[in-house]
Amino acid sequence: MLLLLLSFSSSSVFAAAPPEKDGVIFSGTTACGKKIALTFDDGPHPYKTMQILDLLDKFGVKATFFIIGENAEYYPEIVAEEAVRGHELANHSFTHPRLSKLTDAEISAEIERADAAIKKASGVTPRLFRPPEGAYSENVVKTAANLGKTTIIWTVDTLDWAKTARDAIVENVKASVTSGSIILFHDYTHKDAHTLEALEVIVPYLQGEGYEFVTVSELLKGK
Ligand SMILES: [Zn+2]
Repeated sequence: MLLLLLSFSSSSVFAAAPPEKDGVIFSGTTACGKKIALTFDDGPHPYKTMQILDLLDKFGVKATFFIIGENAEYYPEIVAEEAVRGHELANHSFTHPRLSKLTDAEISAEIERADAAIKKASGVTPRLFRPPEGAYSENVVKTAANLGKTTIIWTVDTLDWAKTARDAIVENVKASVTSGSIILFHDYTHKDAHTLEALEVIVPYLQGEGYEFVTVSELLKGK
């Protein structure tokens, strides 16, 4: 019933509301102009996250970090740094399990423990949630909503975690991006991932094309 209400309200009442399916958001609205959102999953990483933060600062870009609670407990100072630098902090579960296989109580515990770790590190309580691997079920979405979270997937998957070559990442993003796109990267990756090198190319390219990078919450405002 909740899902039906959400679908009805987004399509019929708020013309500028972002498109969603099954109560899950995959992109912002195209009515927001050339705004897009970079997202980074699975961190913080002990040094890769700081490299990405410095690169984002270099280009004046704000992004959204979907943080694993366990990693926030290992590296709380990096979570705090993400907040200080003006990025959005979001919830990516505590231990990164396949949530659709868990009970509602277990799903709740995963989200709440991650919230607690992120809040302890930064003072911020996330409003957005992304299930590990983007694997959601009705129960996952409903449980997240009961905890006040909006479930976010993505529009463009860069496959950076799979050691995709820099130029392949760049060409994929160039070919796929549109106004309102939510782009998936990872800040916690295998050592041979090319995330940073791809960002060095794609961020200034997209800015040159007139795109503005905003946080996911800003993107969803549809302005
Ligand atoms: Zn993940």
